[in-house]
Amino acid sequence: MAEPTFLVDINVGDLTKWLRAMGYDAVCLPHASDAELIGRALADGRVLLTRDAEIARRRVVSTGRVRALLLGPHDLMHRLRLVADEVGLDSVGRAFTICLECNQRLRDRPKESVREVVPAYVFRTQEAFKDCPACGRVYWQGTHWARMRRVMADLAPDRQGAPQ
Ligand SMILES: [Zn+2]
Repeated sequence: MAEPTFLVDINVGDLTKWLRAMGYDAVCLPHASDAELIGRALADGRVLLTRDAEIARRRVVSTGRVRALLLGPHDLMHRLRLVADEVGLDSVGRAFTICLECNQRLRDRPKESVREVVPAYVFRTQEAFKDCPACGRVYWQGTHWARMRRVMADLAPDRQGAPQ
């Protein structure tokens, strides 16, 4: 089965960067109407994530032509876990492959090529670098990434039911 891609309603827009961090194609259209959201989800075959029960009741959704997940008033981590469980995401294995800002697939970048680009400390301590073909942002697995990775590891299925 093809990997799932997502369309994130602005009412759960904070999921967008987390899905990208997990390596999934996720688009958020802040100014789109409900009809535009549904049209895009249908055209792209994206799973629509929303808190809007009106959207979930639409015929195109109830008949399954558009797959939508109706999320409750949960916190971000709870929502992310619901999505991961429902859609069956690999929360760790694909991490660090998509630009958090523009949803493009990252490219490997030779270490030597970022010498003048990243802070000296980062250059000394990191070995693997990637960059985004769209915005040029350079990524490495630093402390911010390590924090996100711990959170994502907690979402992995084998951790379900573990004591909080
Ligand atoms: Zn980018």
